[in-house]
Amino acid sequence: MTTTNGHGDTQKIENVIVVGSGPAGFTAGLYAARANLSPLLITGNEYGGQVSITYDIENYPGFPESLSGPELVEKFKAQAEKFGTRVEFDYVTELVLDRHPFLVRTESGAEYQTRALILCTGARPRYLEVPGEKEFTGKGVSYCATCDGFFFRGKDVIVVGGGDSAAEEALFLTRYASRVRILHRRDKFRASKILQDRVFANAKIEVIWNTVVTEIFGENGTVTGVKTRNTVTGEAGELKTDGVFIFIGHIPNNDLFHGKLDLDEDGYLITDRKMRTNVPGVFAAGEIQDKVFKQVATSVGQGCAAAMSATRFLEELEAGHAIDLRTDPREFMTPRAAVMA
Ligand code: NAP
Repeated sequence: MTTTNGHGDTQKIENVIVVGSGPAGFTAGLYAARANLSPLLITGNEYGGQVSITYDIENYPGFPESLSGPELVEKFKAQAEKFGTRVEFDYVTELVLDRHPFLVRTESGAEYQTRALILCTGARPRYLEVPGEKEFTGKGVSYCATCDGFFFRGKDVIVVGGGDSAAEEALFLTRYASRVRILHRRDKFRASKILQDRVFANAKIEVIWNTVVTEIFGENGTVTGVKTRNTVTGEAGELKTDGVFIFIGHIPNNDLFHGKLDLDEDGYLITDRKMRTNVPGVFAAGEIQDKVFKQVATSVGQGCAAAMSATRFLEELEAGHAIDLRTDPREFMTPRAAVMA
């Protein structure tokens, strides 16, 4: 389908644009392609999303031998492209959602019209926000063991956090570092039992409980240590180290959506079980709308569901059903769905 823009140019109208290239994005692309929608997937600046900086994926079904994040991303991409997903390496800078077809503008200057959107922009690491963190990022402070672990061969590193990421990345760092100390603000890990067991069994890892980092300091442009505070006694301390790896959770990449789509109190897109946002024709999947599960497997499932819902939406449009952009399409907003929930 084509339309004429204000300059008299003919502009193609896309069926569906997927924003983001993580597991949710590529799966949405795959399913939309197999529904003959010829989707356009715009990758974003971090191609593959967080998976692409994961060294080893052991819990994605179908790969009992495990595989690396970049390998999995390439498989996702190849499968999506095989059925007709068009992948554009570009970054979306603006969405216009108060008209239909929607408008999508990108960093490269492209402007697209689309009848449906699937938003899979994911999340990014949360910062500690302590003095020295910004100053020493890339100079001893890191948010990616897979990317930077190699530079700490034979060195001492500190890992901050108590979840799966902190445990997994601390284990990874033991391949290089001579000692890995995990600093956690409580006296219990949030990480899964299997990872905790591996952490406790690893002779190179030491856990320091009830401790937060209050400052990161260094000399000659590289990290030499951290200042700490005991969260129980309040006692201040100092630890010498060569590197600080921070894994304290994530924040959703929602810059495009403020004032346009409903976000929850933590900034995640609010969707219903059909992955619908509050604007008809706009769907979301993966970590931009999931602050609970955050697994490759769950993101893949959500991407699949979003594409199936988008397909249904387009079928209804095709059948002549008018859409009202002011009507919230989410099921749970209706009294009947609230009773069923
Ligand atoms: P997370 O589960 O939210 O854990 C964040 C950790 O950082 C928590 O232990 C938290 O402490 C701590 N923390 C938060 N803010 C802090 C601060 N300002 N100062 C000090 N510590 C702070 O995040 P995640 O580990 O990145 O995992 C995110 C999701 O991905 C989870 O659902 C996880 O299961 C999943 N994931 C799974 C795997 C896997 O299955 N192999 C691997 C990686 C991630 P508290 O515990 O006190 O809250």
